[in-house]
Amino acid sequence: MSIKPAIFLPELLRHLFKRPVTVKYPFEKEPVPKDFRGNVVFDPPKCIGCMICVNDCPAEAIEIIRVSETEKKFKMLLHNDRCIHCAQCVDSCPTKAYHMDSEYEIAAFSRRHLKIEYK
Ligand code: SF4
Ligand code: SF4
Repeated sequence: MSIKPAIFLPELLRHLFKRPVTVKYPFEKEPVPKDFRGNVVFDPPKCIGCMICVNDCPAEAIEIIRVSETEKKFKMLLHNDRCIHCAQCVDSCPTKAYHMDSEYEIAAFSRRHLKIEYK
């Protein structure tokens, strides 16, 4: 069965003047939606050590560690290999010590490289 040019030619000509629907990723990064949940980011000075985030995280991905006996200072160890990017920690923290960034290229060859320490 042969296809007559009259059938596909108009379609072909129409598409000659349209932008491609595919994107040039990874050579060009596309913007992410406003509420995209990338990596958890922690702001240590805001932390009061209440441990609500540790208790609320469904993936047990957060460790809060006291770094000074005299001052109330804390660091956070994020196990990004466990994090499911649910943003519960962002919602739970009473001092707004967390936010999510817009990063989505977070794959690594080893789980070791997915531990992030914020201090
Ligand atoms: S985004 Fe969810 S899974 Fe990841 S650290 Fe926060 S509460 Fe835990
Ligand atoms: S919920 Fe917020 S203030 Fe409390 S330990 Fe976690 S990060 Fe610190």
